[in-house]
Amino acid sequence: MDRPIKKGSGAQVGRWLWETFGRCKPRATLERACRAFGVLLRSEPLPDALSGMLLCESECQPRIVTNAAELDERQTFTALHELIHFVRNDGDQLFDGGEESLSDPIFEREAFAGAREIALPLEKAIAYRDGCKAAGTSIFYTIPP
Ligand SMILES: [Zn+2]
Repeated sequence: MDRPIKKGSGAQVGRWLWETFGRCKPRATLERACRAFGVLLRSEPLPDALSGMLLCESECQPRIVTNAAELDERQTFTALHELIHFVRNDGDQLFDGGEESLSDPIFEREAFAGAREIALPLEKAIAYRDGCKAAGTSIFYTIPP
């Protein structure tokens, strides 16, 4: 399937995914979009510090892996974040997560914004942002619970 708005901002991509595959629950949006794009979705044991990753090697089918130890809602958010990277084509060879993680803060911010459009209600997003500010942490490098 084409990725018609890959040049768009993360939020635009999120809204497009919601309009195209959504109007239900974030998990259903995620699963429909992954099927349409041919992206495998897996929940597997991962190291504690790793919520998920996008593996996009040229010969293999792209896949999103989320940490099976985390709550379902958080795994959905993580997977949506990775899907936004995929749709935006954030780098040719993506490996998001772990030591080789994408380090471009703009990519991270855009992926967060896109996932938030689908999965995080506005009040919750604001509370989360305020919590990050109070704790002195960056909203762009963490994923909400
Ligand atoms: Zn990311």
